[in-house]
Amino acid sequence: MKPPLLSLVDVNKYFGDVHVLKDISFTIEQGEFLTLLGPSGCGKTTLLRCIAGLESVHSGDILLHGRSIKGIVPNKRNVNTVFQNYALFPHLNVYDNIAYGPRVKKSMTETELTDRVRDVLDLVQMLGYEKRMPHQLSGGQRQRIAIARALINEPAILLLDEPLGALDLKLRKHMQTELAHLQKKTGTTFVYVTHDQDEALNMSDRIVVIDQGKVQQLGSPRDIYNNPSNLFVTTFIGDRNIMQVSVVETGETHAKVRLGENVVSIRKPKQHSLQAGEDAILAIHMDKMRVSCEETANALRGVVSSIHYAGSQIRIELKVDEKTITVVEYQKTECECNEGDSVFVVWEDHGAILLPLEEAWIERGV
Ligand code: ATP
Repeated sequence: MKPPLLSLVDVNKYFGDVHVLKDISFTIEQGEFLTLLGPSGCGKTTLLRCIAGLESVHSGDILLHGRSIKGIVPNKRNVNTVFQNYALFPHLNVYDNIAYGPRVKKSMTETELTDRVRDVLDLVQMLGYEKRMPHQLSGGQRQRIAIARALINEPAILLLDEPLGALDLKLRKHMQTELAHLQKKTGTTFVYVTHDQDEALNMSDRIVVIDQGKVQQLGSPRDIYNNPSNLFVTTFIGDRNIMQVSVVETGETHAKVRLGENVVSIRKPKQHSLQAGEDAILAIHMDKMRVSCEETANALRGVVSSIHYAGSQIRIELKVDEKTITVVEYQKTECECNEGDSVFVVWEDHGAILLPLEEAWIERGV
């Protein structure tokens, strides 16, 4: 059987006494768009730099096509990195910036190089800019040239470290779509670092969620969004209301839980067993909840504390058993409520999940 394109096997990394990467293991397949997602300082860049060979690993191994690359210097690894600051040579024009790598490696004749520079400029939609200097380009254009400069080397893997971080929001959204198209068009394997969950969810085939140097979950964007495997991923991805509840009884697919006076039925998690009498965490996507004026089955009773209108979005805050719950509705709410009204909150079944209580999180005040 063909080995995966890249395998990380129990990778550990320390900076002094600080254990920055902890037993990281996963594989990356040919042609994948894989994103390393996590909060600032969780170790994403360090992991990317270990793959690039810019940092050494303390223990564990990194295999490319099944062979260890631990002892191989960065420029012999067949991986290329695009950094947030693009790192273009300021004194070279666009053509010479892109041609730099192949010229150093003497991997092409000047005639071949002319064709290849044209090909990669075409890919990033920058034909005609060959003579421009980096300072004569916009941020988005510099970013495209940095990618063209990496693609000309036909790397087995392109590593991208927050490449859109310096762009404004509009351009960032536009470049997300462009990058995802480019990745599919070239078939190049992308390993992409970001702390922006929207970016990760929009662009990736799979996402590795990292916190405190550990892989918390690896899965498709849909899986990570709908079925977070622990409380960290639940609170990090998507906007959810998080409530502590106690399990009253468990059935085959759902469990009944109590929150103050309310007893409601919630689908059970796939990966955890829950027993009656146990405390648990109930998490519900804010935008999968709705306020109802009528009493319905499986609803939380609450009192409206505030209503905010922001364009087409309406954010309604309610007190449910001393806990503040936020409901985000996108059209006119079907229940015309006012502050102080007693109402009911209902939700789509798949928008709610139950997780075992994790003491550490309770200490953090969830
Ligand atoms: P960000 O999103 O802010 O870039 P990150 O997830 O990429 O964060 P890293 O840059 O990998 O995080 O850093 C992980 C941890 O390692 C942090 O605590 C950081 O302070 C520490 N660290 C990173 N580089 C070094 C270094 N050269 N020497 C010592 N500590 C370092």
